[in-house]
Amino acid sequence: MPDQPAASGAPTPLVGAGTGAPPGGAADPAAATVSAPEATFASTNPVTGAVVGHFPVASPQRVSAAVAAARAAAPWWAGLGAAGRREHLLRWAAHLARHDGELVELLHAENGKTAADARIELLLTLEHIRWAARNAGRVLRTRRVLPGPFLANHTARVEYRPLGVVGVIGPWNYPLLTPVGSIAYALAAGNPVVFKPSEYTSALGSRLAEAFAAANPAAPTGVLGVVTGFGATGAALCAAGVDKIAFTGSVASGRKVMAACAQSLTPVVIECGGKDPCIVADDADVVAAAHAAAWGAMSNAGQTCAGVERIYVTAAVAEPFLAELRRALAGVRPGGEPDASYGPMTMPGQAAVVRRHVADALARGATALLGGVEAVGGTFISPIVLVDVPEDSPAVQEETFGPVVTVRTVADVDEAVALANGTPYALGATVFSRRRGDEIARRLDAGMVSVNAVLSFAGIPALPFGGSGESGFGRVHGAEGLREFVRPRSVATLRLRLPGTTLTAFQRPPGLLAAVSWAARRRHGRAPAAPPGR
Ligand code: NAD
Repeated sequence: MPDQPAASGAPTPLVGAGTGAPPGGAADPAAATVSAPEATFASTNPVTGAVVGHFPVASPQRVSAAVAAARAAAPWWAGLGAAGRREHLLRWAAHLARHDGELVELLHAENGKTAADARIELLLTLEHIRWAARNAGRVLRTRRVLPGPFLANHTARVEYRPLGVVGVIGPWNYPLLTPVGSIAYALAAGNPVVFKPSEYTSALGSRLAEAFAAANPAAPTGVLGVVTGFGATGAALCAAGVDKIAFTGSVASGRKVMAACAQSLTPVVIECGGKDPCIVADDADVVAAAHAAAWGAMSNAGQTCAGVERIYVTAAVAEPFLAELRRALAGVRPGGEPDASYGPMTMPGQAAVVRRHVADALARGATALLGGVEAVGGTFISPIVLVDVPEDSPAVQEETFGPVVTVRTVADVDEAVALANGTPYALGATVFSRRRGDEIARRLDAGMVSVNAVLSFAGIPALPFGGSGESGFGRVHGAEGLREFVRPRSVATLRLRLPGTTLTAFQRPPGLLAAVSWAARRRHGRAPAAPPGR
C-alpha cells in the first residue's frame, strides 16, 4: 500500500495523546514475552500531518502472545456468565461516555472527521455496547426444543457456548463504531477479543482497550487486547489460532483474510464495502429524500460503507428532486475546522480513486450537477453530483468511498430496482416512497434497507448488519451478531426408559422397526395435493 503510515525500525518509545502504550502497560503479557526491539509506526492527523501516536508493528510472536493472553483469560470471562459480562461491558460504555469530549477530539485528530460526525459515531458505539451487554443473556439463553414423536421420552436443548478467542480486524472509517460492532458482541457472547485496528487509527483502537481495562481493573488484560501494525499483523492474527476472525475492510483484504483462515479452517465473518443505491419513487417526499440522500452521500466525506453512492429517481419527480438536492448541498463543504460539514479523506490514496471515477464518468458523457474533477484536491473534496453516468462505469460499479453521488433518471420503479440490483455489491439500500416503501425494499438485493430515511438500520442495534456478494457475508449487530460468536451445542437426554421402544439397539424387539416404519408412512406419506397441471 503506497500511502500507508510510515514504519520505522528504531525502537522508538511509545508516545502520543496518552494512547500509544500497548493495553495493559507493563503487565501486558504480549509485552512481557517480546524482548527484541520492534519496529514502530506513526499514526498521523490526516489534515496537519501531526503525529497522534507511535505504535509497535506487532510481530507474529507478539500477536501469538496476545492470543495466548486472551486464551488464558477465556475461562474467567466465560465463567462470569452473561450477567457478569453485562456489568463489565456497561462499565466500559460508562467510561467511554464519561470521556466523550476526549474521544471526539481523538476521532477528529486521528481520523479527521468533524466533531459532529465523531459525536454521532460515539453515540452509536455506546448504543451497541449497551444492546449487546443487555441482550446477550436473553438471546443466548439455553433453549429447549421438542424431541419429536420417535424420541418423545427425551428432553432436548440447545446451549450456546463461546467460541474461545475472537480476532477482530478493523478499518479506519468508523474506528470506534465498526470494530465495536464485533468486539462488544463477541465479548458479550463470552469470548475474549484480540483487536487489530487499522494502521490509520491505532490510537483510537488502543484507546478502546485502555478504556475497557480502566473501567474493569480486576479483569485479566487478555479479555480485550490490541495488536497494532499493518496488513501483516492482521495476517498474523488470522494464523494465530483464534477461533473466529471478524474482518471489516476492503474486498481485496477480505479475500486475503479468507485465504489465510482457510489454512486452519478458522471461521470468518467478512464485512466489506458497498455501492448502495437510493431509489426515489413517484410518490416520494422529494424534499426529505433530497436532504437525506445529500447527508447519506456526503457525511464523513462519503467514507461510509453503507453510504448513498447511487440515486435512481423516477422521471415524474426527477426535476424537483435534483433542484432540491442542489439546495441541500448548497454551503456543504469539507474542512478541518469545527464548523465544516465534513472532514478530509482519511486515507490519502482514496482521493486518487475518487478522481479516477469522476474523470472516467465525465469522459463517458456524464455531467456534473455539482463539483467535478477540479473538486478533487488532495485532502478535502467538495461534494460532487454526477448525472447520467453510464451504468457500466467504475463510478457506478465500484465503491468510490468519497463525497460523490451519481443520479440517474429512470422511467419507473421497475427500472430503478433492476439498476439498483446491478452491481456486485449488496450491502445497504434506501427507498423513498410514501406508499410503496416496503414493496420496493423487498425487491432489493441488500442486507439492510432504510425506508424514507438514510442509514437508520445502522443506528438500531437490534438490527443485523451485513451484506452479500462483494459486500461479504455473516452479520454483526443484533441477535444474529451475537450468534456469530457462539457455537451451538445440542444435548438430548433420555428421561424415561420405555422397555421395548429403543430403535437404536441391536437387541430391538422384533416388529418394532416395522411398526415405526408404518407410523412414519402415516406421518410423512400424505403430501399436500399437487396443483392442477396447466
Ligand atoms: P483495508 O482492507 O485496507 O484494511 C482493513 C483492515 O485489514 C486493516 O486493519 C488492515 O491493516 C487489515 N489488513 C490488510 N491486509 C490484511 C491481510 N492480508 N490480512 C489481515 N488483515 C489485513 O480496508 P480499509 O481501507 O481500512 O477500510 C475501508 C473499507 O472497509 C471500505 O471498503 C469500506 O466499505 C469497508 N467497511 C465496511 C464496513 C461494513 O460493515 N461492511 C464498515 C466499515 C468499512
